[in-house]
Amino acid sequence: MAENIFDCELPDEKGYFGEYGGSFIPPELQVIMDQVTAAYEEIREDPDFRAELADLYQHFVGRPSPIFHAKNLSKKYGADIYLKREDLNHTGAHKINHCLGEALLAKKMGKKKLIAETGAGQHGVALATAAALVGLECDIHMGEVDMAKEHPNVIRMRILGANVIPVSHGRKTLKEAVDSAFGAYLADPQTQLFGIGSVVGPHPYPRMIRDFQSIVGVEAKEQFKHMTGKLPDNLVACVGGGSNALGLFTAFMNDKSVAMYGVEPSGRDIDILGEHAATMTHGKPGVMHGFKSYMLQDDDGEPAEVYSVASGLDYPSVGPQHSYLKDIGRVNYAYISDKEAIDAFFEISRLEGIIPAIETAHALAYTFKLAQESDTGTILVNLSGRGDKDIDFVAEKYGEEYGI
Ligand SMILES: *Cc1c(COP(=O)(O)O)cnc(C)c1O
Repeated sequence: MAENIFDCELPDEKGYFGEYGGSFIPPELQVIMDQVTAAYEEIREDPDFRAELADLYQHFVGRPSPIFHAKNLSKKYGADIYLKREDLNHTGAHKINHCLGEALLAKKMGKKKLIAETGAGQHGVALATAAALVGLECDIHMGEVDMAKEHPNVIRMRILGANVIPVSHGRKTLKEAVDSAFGAYLADPQTQLFGIGSVVGPHPYPRMIRDFQSIVGVEAKEQFKHMTGKLPDNLVACVGGGSNALGLFTAFMNDKSVAMYGVEPSGRDIDILGEHAATMTHGKPGVMHGFKSYMLQDDDGEPAEVYSVASGLDYPSVGPQHSYLKDIGRVNYAYISDKEAIDAFFEISRLEGIIPAIETAHALAYTFKLAQESDTGTILVNLSGRGDKDIDFVAEKYGEEYGI
């Protein structure tokens, strides 16, 4: 593992990125969270832990993932587009990077079980995979709407030995699954470790997940320099909670020449609350799920209902570091609609022979817009995951329109 993977100035020791982050949880849970923080502080400096994780990244995940110069897309859209191929990781997305970290941490802490929520099912599959490998039990809470949409992932988790727990209240998607998993964790925090699926939640998760994901940018920086002799001019990634984005961005944070774009979903309608999940565009600072960040709120200040065609992006908040990066202007946040994402999904499939996750297609759609502006320079996109999980849904919902 590259030396600087775990080196970052923020958050401070209470878990704050500027005014965002922190830990807003009941005192009895804070005691447990302090143990998690202490254990993480210890292992992140531990050469044995680093070596074990580096070995799994290489031999189990298949890292380093390659960078691919997408020449057909580059030619069509007028700027050189490069793809960091996290879709080629074992289990098909970037999430395995942090799930292995969490599983190793749980093992070191003597926990018996990993517990988590999942949206698209990618986090659940990655965590169930890591749990199987490390020898831990695994409970995954998942909204019933997502279970129907992402059925193959439900089967995968069960084959891997995990318990999939259906969540049937509210919109039956990611937010309700988070509430449900959090409740189950509170009931028994001693024998379980919460395997949060993104750079969200109370301290130390936003920092810990970012650290585990930062391997993406560390590799990409070296690979891109090797390929082109320079740094990329632009980085693009989709943002649900924001882990694949920070994974790519972190290694470039101090390279002022590199512009960064985080892309959220505007769903069916950016102007109607409940029809999108564009937290950075329409959200306000607030506290949810144990941390402070921008969030989409209803009139009572409660988390708003959200929607996106991409199950992994429909979350009413965002990782606290993103809120900080928005306020200081280091990262630009944009949005892409369902329609634009589905267009991009077919565009890259048919021009490059790569079927992306619908989540990832949001980053690609924005990349095409950016490429068409003048003097864009090179663009490096985090191809966060592959689209196998989405093909049945896409065929059923959009098949006629796209000639399937
Ligand atoms: C989960 C997921 C995302 C969104 O999560 P982030 O934490 O924002 O990265 C994006 N792409 C894929 C393929 C995913 O599975």
